Amino acid sequence: MRGKLMYEGKGKQLYASETDGELIQLFKDDATAFDGVKHDVIAGKGELNCAISSFVFEKLHTAGVGTHYVRREGTAEMRVKALDMMPVEVVVRNVAAGSICKRLGLEEGKVLPYPLTELFYKSDELHDPMINTEHAEMFGWATRADVQEMRAVALKVNAVLSEMFAAVGIRLVDYKLEFGKCGSDILLGDEITPDGCRLWDAETGRKLDKDVFRRDLGGLSEVYHEVANRLGIAIAFDA
Ligand code: UDP
Repeated sequence: MRGKLMYEGKGKQLYASETDGELIQLFKDDATAFDGVKHDVIAGKGELNCAISSFVFEKLHTAGVGTHYVRREGTAEMRVKALDMMPVEVVVRNVAAGSICKRLGLEEGKVLPYPLTELFYKSDELHDPMINTEHAEMFGWATRADVQEMRAVALKVNAVLSEMFAAVGIRLVDYKLEFGKCGSDILLGDEITPDGCRLWDAETGRKLDKDVFRRDLGGLSEVYHEVANRLGIAIAFDA
């Protein structure tokens, strides 16, 4: 049962629950890009993201990755463990796309020799600048050991998800992960959905993620439905 609203972000709300140490994460129908400059409401998106994220967290749990996921509750709601979120995001890249192309002058689609991890400091004001381990340690955002652990988990997630998507004809290009502390454990938090991943059709290269919204390439709901369908996830909402 949802209690008091504790936090509201661009794509989700976090509510207290009746159980200490657990929260209800509600996925909104809002789509935003470019730091919120582009915004739309897409009916059914919350359900799609909740269903996809729940499915992915269950896969990761089976593979031994510790996450905040407890269970799905309701159409667009997921019960999660309350985490003390780290202000450092981890991006994993298998193929060059997005900001790395601009930053390093790489061609979109260039396959990287091995999975690359990058760190970003979570700050809307500063537009999430890229940082390294020294910045994280120096400014108290994460210790060297925390960073090492987040990177190791991010690469394990990469192995599990690359294989899961490859099995349904999807290429996992890149994605962003957020972590938080629960006592002394570092757990994977937030969400794993096509909002925070780049997913390309393995045959045609067609984009099946939020770039469809960012670049006005068609209906977002349709492509998220396609990702859910391919993974065998049942969705009640009709595109
Ligand atoms: N990403 C995200 N939230 C962010 C920044 C990045 O979910 O605040 C995801 C993004 O969707 C992509 C990956 O992380 O799958 C790498 O993003 P990139 O650094 O290329 O930034 P972009 O140019 O896409 O914002």
